[in-house]
Amino acid sequence: MSRIDLHLHTTHSDGSCSTREVMNFAKQAGVVALAITDHDIIDGVPEATTIGKELGIDVVPGIEISSRLGDNELHILGYFLDWTDALLAQRLKTLRDSRHLRNPRIVQRLNELGIPMTYDEVRALAGTESVGRPHIARLLMEKKFVTSAKEAFDRYLANGRPAFVDRELPQPAEAVQWIRDAGGVPVLAHPTWVRTSADGLRTLVRDLKGMGLGGIEVHYSTHTPSQTNEYLELAKQCDLLVTGGSDFHGVTKPDIEVGIGRGQLKVSHTLLDPLNKAATAA
Ligand SMILES: [Zn+2]
Ligand SMILES: [Zn+2]
Repeated sequence: MSRIDLHLHTTHSDGSCSTREVMNFAKQAGVVALAITDHDIIDGVPEATTIGKELGIDVVPGIEISSRLGDNELHILGYFLDWTDALLAQRLKTLRDSRHLRNPRIVQRLNELGIPMTYDEVRALAGTESVGRPHIARLLMEKKFVTSAKEAFDRYLANGRPAFVDRELPQPAEAVQWIRDAGGVPVLAHPTWVRTSADGLRTLVRDLKGMGLGGIEVHYSTHTPSQTNEYLELAKQCDLLVTGGSDFHGVTKPDIEVGIGRGQLKVSHTLLDPLNKAATAA
């Protein structure tokens, strides 16, 4: 069984490795097809496609869009979308702009806590328009206020911690629609992150399907075997496609590797064809 990885982050958003580095790791892990799914940005697709031709890896255009429903931040992955779509580009730019409103307020809170840093430093470290909290976490690591990204989130950046600042996010229905409008298949990312009961998740997934959701990320680095089975069953019940990926970020998630997650992940290439068909059928 050939392996694929449909959830990867690069320096285009909050990953610490370039597209080429990520794809070299993929090659080493025996990945035959992948999707770069950077947060709120799709600029990496052409470069990835070029490198993919060189390395013999199929590249699926991908994205991960953050959305909010009540207390839950839901991430919606999009696959096989038209990355040249002008409306999508405009919608994503608006989302990224909201990050530039939030991030300086986080920096200000950190300053008030006695940590000297500027948003210019964060942006220089990020080197992309899709700036997120993991970049601030990395700057905190560089400045030796913390020793890991996890510590940065646990002490300062996570919801409920002293430097947390909320941001405006679209509704999941909007994120799903944006991906559909660009010809892609929307997929609910890492369902284990959704804070609700099994029944609550089923209701949510059914609702999202009514809005155009096409799949669930069943295979994921941190899913336990029983969670994987639960989500597989849920996908079956709701007649949704199954996808999977590592959510590799590099240094901010040091235990997760491209293609294999924490070592147990294996996403079959047989999942790709139905996804491609769903995109072209729409
Ligand atoms: Zn995510
Ligand atoms: Zn992700």
